[in-house]
Amino acid sequence: MIAGVALSLLAACTDSSDDGPPAGSAPPPTATGNGSPTSGSALRGKVIVLDPGHNGANADHPEQINRKVFVGNGYKPCNTTGTRTTGGYPEHAFTWDLANRLAKVLRAEGAKVTLTRKNDEGVGPCITERAAIANRLRADATLSIHADGSAPSGHGFHVITPLPVGKNAPIVTPSRTLGVAIRDGFRSGTGIPFSTYLGKNGLDRRDDLGGLNLSTVPVAFIECGNMMNPGDAAKMTSGPFRQRMADSLAKGFQAYLR
Ligand code: ZN
Repeated sequence: MIAGVALSLLAACTDSSDDGPPAGSAPPPTATGNGSPTSGSALRGKVIVLDPGHNGANADHPEQINRKVFVGNGYKPCNTTGTRTTGGYPEHAFTWDLANRLAKVLRAEGAKVTLTRKNDEGVGPCITERAAIANRLRADATLSIHADGSAPSGHGFHVITPLPVGKNAPIVTPSRTLGVAIRDGFRSGTGIPFSTYLGKNGLDRRDDLGGLNLSTVPVAFIECGNMMNPGDAAKMTSGPFRQRMADSLAKGFQAYLR
């Protein structure tokens, strides 16, 4: 029963998408000329797409987010509402804040970062569109950011990488490499342990997530913790700790793109 609950909650949490506004616009260009303080960074000039899971108005627009979209091997809702802590801090706000903190760190290192949504007040976009944004930009790497909503006794984080589902086959192996780099950066930078309830050594593979199935560029998902667990929730609701998460994820990108 716990496994079933965990799976259903995870599915509710992880496959966000929708058909809302167009892709977030790219950040202002970062200096790339000689003499830039970032000229030695592994991230300079790299194209990174960050996907903050869910969106703030999804819950008010079920007719839009429940629309079924094709994810390569079946149909899933365009997007979902995500989860929240028992104190009411929503997953969409967490992912939005963390993605923006991470984007700032990556841009300071010279990366070209695009987010899959423009704000935290909209609907969607669908999971299919979120994947398409990274594909169109031919991103060097893309990360979908989530927080889990599982049984309160479970805690810790895990990273999800794709199983081969048709056209994503060429990126399965580089995605696993990206996922390991993200896992290692997050583990060492935040001290958060590997998930006690999903995956193995902080890693899982899935073939039921549109963002993984439809990607043609290296992709990983991270569930940063379990919002139902008091210890994990305390970390996720802390601004300084979210900054630590952002800095840690940036280390993961640096290791992968080096
Ligand atoms: Zn989620």
